[in-house]
Amino acid sequence: MADQLIRATAAEGGIRAVGIISTRLTEEARQRHKLSYVATAALGRTMSAGLLLASSMKRENSRVNIRVKGNGPLGGLLVDAGLDGTVRGYVFNPDVELPPNAQGKLDVGGAVGSEGFVYVVRDIGHGYPYSSTVELVSGEIGEDITHYLFTSEQTPSALLVGVFVGADGVTAAGGILVQIMPKAAQDEALISTLEARIAELKGFTPLLREGKTLPEIFESLLGDLGLEIFPDVQLVRFDCRCSFDRVLSALRTLGEAELLDMIEKDGGAEATCEFCGEVYQATDQHLSELVQDLQASAIAE
Ligand code: ZN
Repeated sequence: MADQLIRATAAEGGIRAVGIISTRLTEEARQRHKLSYVATAALGRTMSAGLLLASSMKRENSRVNIRVKGNGPLGGLLVDAGLDGTVRGYVFNPDVELPPNAQGKLDVGGAVGSEGFVYVVRDIGHGYPYSSTVELVSGEIGEDITHYLFTSEQTPSALLVGVFVGADGVTAAGGILVQIMPKAAQDEALISTLEARIAELKGFTPLLREGKTLPEIFESLLGDLGLEIFPDVQLVRFDCRCSFDRVLSALRTLGEAELLDMIEKDGGAEATCEFCGEVYQATDQHLSELVQDLQASAIAE
């Protein structure tokens, strides 16, 4: 099934639900960054969470950045997700591998670490971004972002994100976000019903691997609570906005002396985009043009 995101409501707008399948984009991230299993799970879970968070934003260019910095061997990770369905990200130490945890699952919490912070920045596309920091709860990502949504955005939420990765790569990844809107915030019975059902799910990827679709998962959770699934299916994908032109602009800021030094010592420059792993080669010719350009603009001033 193609990577996709769908939205739904229930309880006459008292519940907002979003679901995502991110199997392919997580596999793409795994290949681009040569991620270990546990790094794939950590980044994949956070990329799904980023897209789920971005899905509620209003303006076209809105983006969410999630930075996780824990005391585990992974060192940290960063995800940049947009309302437009694009996402990119990386982990600091991509080759860290750990034995399975006590539940026999990939030890994302151990790799991320349970002490540290989650930084979330919501950029609505103009003006000042809204940023907030919360402490990590477990380093398992789902719980940490849920904690963020409750404490920083005052929205009681359940976030379930998962990645299934093995020798064949990523074969299932995605998640669901169910949120209680202000109009239902006092409805204790509704909240406890939802909590019990989500606790029963025991993870997201088992559902995908059983062949369940997002509408079927919503149906089983919210079918008797006035579920309305929006007809639009949004495609989501790994996408980076880096380009050779951007690399040249970054090189230009180094200034004339540094560029001349690079030409002399290295005969060019190589730059790797940390978000997507793309490698860009600037030749001595490219660098010389930048130097000429800098000299010309210096004279013009
Ligand atoms: Zn890139």
